[in-house]
Amino acid sequence: MAEIDDFRSEVAGWLKENCPDGARGPGQISNGSSKITLEPDVALWLERCVERGFTVPTWPKEYGGGGLSPQYAKVLYEEMGTISARVPLTGMGISMIGPTLLEYGTDEQKARHVPKIARGEMQWCQGYSEPNAGSDLASLSTRAEDKGDHFLINGQKIWTSGAATADWMFILVRTDPDAPKHDGISFMLLTMDQPGVTTRPIRLISGSSPFCETFFDNAVAKKEDLVSELNKGWTVGKRLLQFERSGIGGLSGAARGTSGQTLIRVAKDYVGEQDSKIADSGLRRKVLNLNMNRAAFQITAQRANEENKSGTPGAATSIFKLFGAALQQDSAELKRELMGFRGLGAHEEVGFTEEELLATEEWLHLRTTTIYGGSNEIQANIIAKRVLGLPE
Ligand SMILES: Cc1cc2nc3c(=O)[nH]c(=O)nc-3n(C[C@H](O)[C@H](O)[C@H](O)COP(=O)(O)OP(=O)(O)OC[C@H]3O[C@@H](n4cnc5c(N)ncnc54)[C@H](O)[C@@H]3O)c2cc1C
Repeated sequence: MAEIDDFRSEVAGWLKENCPDGARGPGQISNGSSKITLEPDVALWLERCVERGFTVPTWPKEYGGGGLSPQYAKVLYEEMGTISARVPLTGMGISMIGPTLLEYGTDEQKARHVPKIARGEMQWCQGYSEPNAGSDLASLSTRAEDKGDHFLINGQKIWTSGAATADWMFILVRTDPDAPKHDGISFMLLTMDQPGVTTRPIRLISGSSPFCETFFDNAVAKKEDLVSELNKGWTVGKRLLQFERSGIGGLSGAARGTSGQTLIRVAKDYVGEQDSKIADSGLRRKVLNLNMNRAAFQITAQRANEENKSGTPGAATSIFKLFGAALQQDSAELKRELMGFRGLGAHEEVGFTEEELLATEEWLHLRTTTIYGGSNEIQANIIAKRVLGLPE
């Protein structure tokens, strides 16, 4: 116990000294893209964290990680939260493809890609969904043909988050159209900066465009970027989804969504305070229930992590994805309710504080967490079949 306490005080001191003011509170976070300019403090914060392996605290040191156990990483995240330090790096590199390569990549692939991911030198995007393959992902039809030293890719993906700024994509492609659908899929990596790859932004009603359609017209993936064996990509692709779901569900340990303390503060600020309590008893009960659910969820997540050597369970991640996504939605909804009409500020309105505008944005954005990474219904199906062993 003493050792972990020593780590906590050492890391708290380091964070206080090394986290620049411009990397605290809401604001820019690097996703590794070579096409996005970072604010100076954000770049400095990333650089300092890279030196200590804090962008990926639990990864092995030889690949740029911090070599910390999940318990120590949790302490790090808690101390970052205490000073409102932003996470130094985010994105699909560290949350999805990095851990997948650590499990399925060859030594050469790990050495080539993983340290760059840890250093935030490339942004990754996910080429999974297609116009006719979403929940039924194994129906995908984007083809990859073996051309000796490379694969030639033709087809289309959709809902590719971040494709416009990404440097690399991990993709599921059909390499054997005659095999049963799960057996003819391969998992490969390709650079986005090549003539055969085009992205077309999908404009949302808000005017923003977080994702794209991605078209492949004789795009090239090098042979050395085939992960695992040819036609064995479904296993790799499913494992990556477990990493994605564990991130969405909050299993990775990094803080997600509104914290319990923030909810209490917002309630006191907007609803009022009486005898050091939230003034309205109905809202007080709502905050209490949500915070108790959150605490129970966090303890369960910690237990699940400790029971799994890799830190990420298998099919059971669907439980955390299902419940964790709902919890994030519920807390954003409650924060908005506590703020009253001030929690419904649109960007172009005047007079709303930054926190209020962010609360609205978060509330709207979190509607998507029960869709991406596999919808609620799909998670419920996985839990029924793979965790509970219920018949089809
Ligand atoms: C914000 C956001 C970001 C995304 N980013 C990416 C990305 O970067 N890369 C990527 O590849 N994809 C991405 N997606 C796509 C996402 O993975 C799909 O939207 C999701 O898998 C659902 O597929 P679909 O949209 O085709 O819906 P469909 O599969 O058509 O499903 C429609 C509805 O039918 C239900 N349904 C379907 N099948 C079943 C079943 N067997 N049992 C019960 N109900 C069922 C679903 O739950 C859903 O409610 C993103 C989506 C969102 C919202």
